[in-house]
Amino acid sequence: EAKLQGRNTWQWYCGDISPQTCEHIALRREILEAIEDQQFVVYYQPLVDARTGEVRSLEALVRWNHPSRGIVPPNDFIPLAEQTGQIINIDQWVLRQACFDTVAINASRPVSQPVGVAVNISPVHFRRVGFFSEVQQVLEESGLAPYLLELEVTEGVLMSGTEKVIEQLAALRNIGVLVAIDDFGTGFSSLSYLRQLPINKVKLDRSFIQNIDHNRDNAAIVQGVITMAHHLGLQVVAEGVETLAEQEDLIRHGCDLLQGFRFSRPIPLPQFIALPTRLPAE
Ligand code: C2E
Ligand code: MG
Ligand code: MG
Ligand code: MG
Repeated sequence: EAKLQGRNTWQWYCGDISPQTCEHIALRREILEAIEDQQFVVYYQPLVDARTGEVRSLEALVRWNHPSRGIVPPNDFIPLAEQTGQIINIDQWVLRQACFDTVAINASRPVSQPVGVAVNISPVHFRRVGFFSEVQQVLEESGLAPYLLELEVTEGVLMSGTEKVIEQLAALRNIGVLVAIDDFGTGFSSLSYLRQLPINKVKLDRSFIQNIDHNRDNAAIVQGVITMAHHLGLQVVAEGVETLAEQEDLIRHGCDLLQGFRFSRPIPLPQFIALPTRLPAE
């Protein structure tokens, strides 16, 4: 049986087999149950226009509402779910939920200001045959306009540079779905390489945003990425904006969109619908 020891660790009592193997087996089974019992829930975090503070889109971030552990963050189960392949089921469920929820959110807003939704896609899922038709089907069933859906992939996926990945990106672009590079700057991709790829947005990793107002290196990197991205026709999002000082610096550097606790934490759908249309609220 599973027993919680400490905050973020999973531990099981399992006799002879190695604790790691045991943990994997147990967690794998629990994730399977979680998928069947619909224990996953999607939280949403707004992305705001850097200049006006208007909410432009939202990022879907999965949580596991575990019957005994409470809300479990994605970093505690996604790495294993990627190893077992279960991430595909989780991602599919999140994608579907996010599209339907965004249609509901937009029904509560003026028609002239629909918000888009960004969904994280695991490399395991993105590279899979059939991914594209899955996206098409979800769009059709939910009625979400393709240009309101954005898929977030990491540099690793793109750098693998296989024809398959580029084909997939081109197919998505053909139907109007947007693609963003998540956690930009933590991998090894160069903007000159990215220039060849059909992508729309770059999301600067939080590690470059933190203390940008006190850290000259970070400020220089952020300024450089923004300038180059704009030359390539890409929008730039700053992740993890927590303070007014960071916000002001990012605006000065010409960043397009801001996301972070300064504006809102990730929150459940009903709370998101109740958010003001401009953030931070005064
Ligand atoms: P990510 O896509 O880079 O998402 C941003 C993470 O930063 C989120 O963590 C968010 O809660 C956190 N964050 C946002 N603003 C701030 C801030 O101002 N300060 C700080 N300290 N943190 C901030 P979260 O929700 O724990 O998600 C972690 C990662 O798990 C995500 O990173 C993403 O890579 C992955 N993930 C989440 N949902 C999914 C999903 O449905 N599918 C897949 N494949 N991965 C997901
Ligand atoms: Mg993301
Ligand atoms: Mg990110
Ligand atoms: Mg991240």
